Amino acid sequence: MTLPAWAGLAGDHHVHSTFSDDAESTLAENVAAARQAGLDQIRLVDHVRASTTWVPEFCRRTAALRPTAQGITIRTGVEAKMLDATGRLDLPPGLRTDPDRPDRVGRVLIADHQYPSPVGPWSPSRVLDERAAGLSSDAIVDTLVGAMIGAMAAVEHAQLAHPFSLLPKVGLTEDDLLADHLSALCAAALAHGTWVEINEKWACPGPRAIEAFATAGVTLVASTDSHHHRDVGRYDRVVDLSRSLADAQVVDPLSAGGR
Ligand SMILES: [Zn+2]
Ligand SMILES: [Zn+2]
Repeated sequence: MTLPAWAGLAGDHHVHSTFSDDAESTLAENVAAARQAGLDQIRLVDHVRASTTWVPEFCRRTAALRPTAQGITIRTGVEAKMLDATGRLDLPPGLRTDPDRPDRVGRVLIADHQYPSPVGPWSPSRVLDERAAGLSSDAIVDTLVGAMIGAMAAVEHAQLAHPFSLLPKVGLTEDDLLADHLSALCAAALAHGTWVEINEKWACPGPRAIEAFATAGVTLVASTDSHHHRDVGRYDRVVDLSRSLADAQVVDPLSAGGR
């Protein structure tokens, strides 16, 4: 028997626009695509660094789209990479989140684009060099999970973007995560109200982590990580990854923190 598709697939919680250097569609094109795909919610998200200055304009432009959204809840966010083992994020200073205020972004997406080493961000190739020189896989996984937990504690409304997408880039897999790592991440997500996305682009997290998050009661959301509006709300790998969730774990746009 095939389980019905997860109702969370009616949302896309990680959609990039031209506010990101590497994305091609406007905010309005993404919202129109969400409407065409039959979504009920979309989170417009762009890459930030400490030097980013466009967040107020991004908030104004997304707020202006809400009256035309026609039944789609428009949420907002910024995506920032972890910089070191404490989970310090590459965020503009003073950035505040508030899902209920249109002049602030709703969530901060915590990204593992680089390995958050104790001395700062390392590229995946640097991690491979360090592994060859003796850095253990246990230490890498421990440090990554510790940084994720630190980042969750540091921002009020967070979402783990493509969790563990870094592992295959450094020659590891989610099988290298211990049960203790997953339970610590679940506890932190619950304590800090962090959401966790199931990401189409990177096909992560895997079924074991999804089950751990779902069993713990962590809010799971679907995302494409779209960089072009043709991909908004188009799921393939997330359909398979989320099979076990069926109708459980759906974010209700009316009750789950508005924007
Ligand atoms: Zn990312
Ligand atoms: Zn992204």
